[in-house]
Amino acid sequence: MEILQQPEQATLRKEFPILHQSVNGYPLVYFDNAATTQKPLSVIESIHNYYTKQNANIHRGAHHLAHISTVAFEETRSKIKSFLNAAHSEEIIFTSGTTDSINLVAQTWGRKNLNAGDEILLSMLEHHSNIVPWQMIAEEKGAIIKVIPINEAGEWQLDAIDSLLSNRTKIVAVNHVSNALGTINPVKILIDKSHAVGAIILLDGAQAVSHFAVDLQDLDCDFYCFSGHKLYGPTGTGVLYGKQELLEAMPPYRGGGEMIKSVSFEKTTYNELPHKFEAGTPNIGGVIGLGAAISFMQSQDWNQLHRNEKELLDYATSRLLEIEGLKIYGTSKSKVAVISFLIDGVHPYDLGTLLDNQGVAVRTGHHCTEPLWNHFGVVGSVRASFAMYNTEEEIDLFIAALKKSLQLLK
Ligand code: PMP
Repeated sequence: MEILQQPEQATLRKEFPILHQSVNGYPLVYFDNAATTQKPLSVIESIHNYYTKQNANIHRGAHHLAHISTVAFEETRSKIKSFLNAAHSEEIIFTSGTTDSINLVAQTWGRKNLNAGDEILLSMLEHHSNIVPWQMIAEEKGAIIKVIPINEAGEWQLDAIDSLLSNRTKIVAVNHVSNALGTINPVKILIDKSHAVGAIILLDGAQAVSHFAVDLQDLDCDFYCFSGHKLYGPTGTGVLYGKQELLEAMPPYRGGGEMIKSVSFEKTTYNELPHKFEAGTPNIGGVIGLGAAISFMQSQDWNQLHRNEKELLDYATSRLLEIEGLKIYGTSKSKVAVISFLIDGVHPYDLGTLLDNQGVAVRTGHHCTEPLWNHFGVVGSVRASFAMYNTEEEIDLFIAALKKSLQLLK
């Protein structure tokens, strides 16, 4: 039942216990990594260690356990600061995930700064979590949402951007990498163009941080968001990075403990960054697990990861294109290892079910990007998305399972 490839890959796969199991009598082939990645032993063990040796509430206790859990929690903040090359640790806010991070910005920065007639620029590639929070605040404020169109390959139409940006644009919010198509967007160009018209820009990095290094000081974006669970870390953890001066000027998001300096019935004063945005007891064990995930990422040979990923993407693409009637959505030369496809006359859900019967986990449907699939005029796709532990042998199993499914369906 073991799937192994080169010795390094075999060693890496040993770090992920969940991979070594059968599903419906077949070795598990996990190709749903854009939805969530599996967790290495170091992450699982750090959470186990937290609950067996360190558990205490953070920041306010005078006792030993409160001290060590506070140190471990805050260590993750410093690790993320260096992982993303942010200028200050105070710019790293812990949230429950990308969705929570974007809502925070929409509800605080947006509520304070947006007025009737202001424009918010999104793109056709956005996840619902980078559409709906903006619609909610736009409706409340009378702001207008504009959308960057895409071409057939699933790339932004760069020549449309200049006419969409103006001094009415107050915020641009786009993903760094498309979860549905895998396109790596040319964000640097958009950051510069947004700043040139006086707009700020938020990047949804949910699909970027596990694939390549992100340097926030070089990018110079104003906000950046990601989820821990797509970066080999625990669910329920996430990050909002914001430039210090923007975060300082924003009102708090949720009220409660931790986010205050002093409270009286007459007047409450708010805490300093980052605590102003972290009301209540956070997901302490999760954040510590996220720290272990960052260390795990930092211990990898990134050149090797890029080579593996490119090989998997190229190999899977060429094997898929052997299949008659198969169309790949998202054909940019600049993409991560995500392949969305449809086969003539085959419903994605039927294919997903038959693949699952053979141990292959893929995602089917609209992948929380309904406007994108409406644009393509289809219901959604089958999406295979790869992570560092996937192998060419697994792609062979996937293609064999796909061919068998098609025989049953046609
Ligand atoms: N944006 C993108 C690009 C995503 O892929 C996802 C998760 N599929 C999200 C936002 C939302 O992330 P979460 O559900 O972890 O908040």
